[in-house]
Amino acid sequence: MKVVLEEKRKENEGVYSLVFQTEEPVSWQAGQYMVLNIPHANPDDRGETRHFTISSAPFQKKPMITTHYLAEEGSSFKRALFAKKQGDTVEVLRIDGEFTLNKEYKKLAFIAGGIGITPYHAMLLELAKEKDDRDVILIYSNKDKNHIAFKDTLERLEKEYNSLKLVNIFSPRRADTNLIKEVVPDMVERAFYLSGPIRLVKAVEEVLQQLNISRDHIRKDYFPRVDE
Ligand SMILES: Cc1cc2nc3c(=O)[nH]c(=O)nc-3n(C[C@H](O)[C@H](O)[C@H](O)COP(=O)(O)OP(=O)(O)OC[C@H]3O[C@@H](n4cnc5c(N)ncnc54)[C@H](O)[C@@H]3O)c2cc1C
Repeated sequence: MKVVLEEKRKENEGVYSLVFQTEEPVSWQAGQYMVLNIPHANPDDRGETRHFTISSAPFQKKPMITTHYLAEEGSSFKRALFAKKQGDTVEVLRIDGEFTLNKEYKKLAFIAGGIGITPYHAMLLELAKEKDDRDVILIYSNKDKNHIAFKDTLERLEKEYNSLKLVNIFSPRRADTNLIKEVVPDMVERAFYLSGPIRLVKAVEEVLQQLNISRDHIRKDYFPRVDE
């Protein structure tokens, strides 16, 4: 499938969203990713394809991705992606992924590190649109407040969608056992979703194991090659 770049939008320092139009209507579930393929001259050893979570919600119809762009310090893939202009096409190899909302889970705890917020952005927009009042606690870990992505949307959703509680944490604070006990006192009743850099996801998974959260209540989305 080909998608057409409609808009490139700056989210915060170094983080951009790219919105695409599709020639045919496309459907996906909030939390799924798409695999982009961009043939380009002299690709580095990381190659010509990348996975990106679709950060827009399905009702918005236009798939969006949100990512860091490090210009010359980044990969040849990102340079090729960011060289695309409005109206240029990009090949999507597939849309897939199981990091999605399960109707059975009535109480949720989303934990994100940095750019790992992307699936939750899609999920929360979708829940609000569907007036699904499932209880969600979002713990969002960043270096500092300047690194929060989708700050305005998350704050608006917290106001409009009463079942959302947003907890921002900044370095050196971590989602450790004390924080989870404090912020998620009803942890045994919740399904935990973990998303972001591998190190963060593994660390939070260990914390949840120490807290005796059942493995069945933990879902993970690792973002390889993403720094915290
Ligand atoms: C299911 C899934 C969903 C994902 N969703 C997202 C998403 O929503 N947003 C997102 O941004 N990413 C997402 N990712 C990760 C994404 O696919 C890329 O791996 C990530 O964005 C890094 O991109 P990049 O390799 O082009 O590196 P860049 O972003 O250009 O750079 C990333 C880091 O790699 C370092 N680096 C430089 N050279 C090398 C090298 N040769 N080898 C290794 N590292 C090097 C850089 O210093 C930098 O710190 C997802 C991955 C998966 C599997």
